[in-house]
Amino acid sequence: MARYIESACKLCRRCGVKLVLKGGRCATPKCAMERQTRGSVRGRRRRVSDRGLQLIEKQKLRYSYGLLEKQFRRVFAQAEKQPGITGENLLALLERRLDNVIYRLGFADSRSQARQLVQHGHILVNGRKARVPSILVKEGDSIGWVISSTKSEYFKMVLAGIEAKSVVSWLTLDRQNLVGRAISLPTPDEIGAEFDSKAIVEYYSR
Ligand code: SF4
Repeated sequence: MARYIESACKLCRRCGVKLVLKGGRCATPKCAMERQTRGSVRGRRRRVSDRGLQLIEKQKLRYSYGLLEKQFRRVFAQAEKQPGITGENLLALLERRLDNVIYRLGFADSRSQARQLVQHGHILVNGRKARVPSILVKEGDSIGWVISSTKSEYFKMVLAGIEAKSVVSWLTLDRQNLVGRAISLPTPDEIGAEFDSKAIVEYYSR
């Protein structure tokens, strides 16, 4: 499966915001964006055109969910075909991806780590092993662990730290057994205000 080989921190620097792509490290002073903020400001920032700003918004969303351009365009096309507002459909489709759900449930510190858990066969959806990170979680789906994976050190580590993690309102989590459930579909408010989906739609409509 195609994936990014560029440094995650480089992607944050390119967009000028913290995209939190590296899990725990992102909250520490080691974060490249934090170091940049603390460091001296070199030169004046270039003025960015409207088109440039739309591009940055699109890249922010794409990098955050870890998709290549081709995959992202496919999701966008799917969002356009759905009834309703394309930008909101796009956010909901990305949010429903299994790798994102694993991340939101606190089973992984980043979406890339969540993707690995799925690809390595540790995750069950409705009791069946799921190996495709892009599958869309539906209302009522349960997300758990393969029995053999619950004996792993990684599982024990996640279990030990799960109390401190909060879960988005469209998901619930049984914290004793690390089994999540989608109780509804994500709404734009729940996905977060950090993405300007309108700018992304404008970017693709030229
Ligand atoms: Fe981005 Fe995280 Fe790297 Fe900071 S540590 S620059 S938030 S990926």
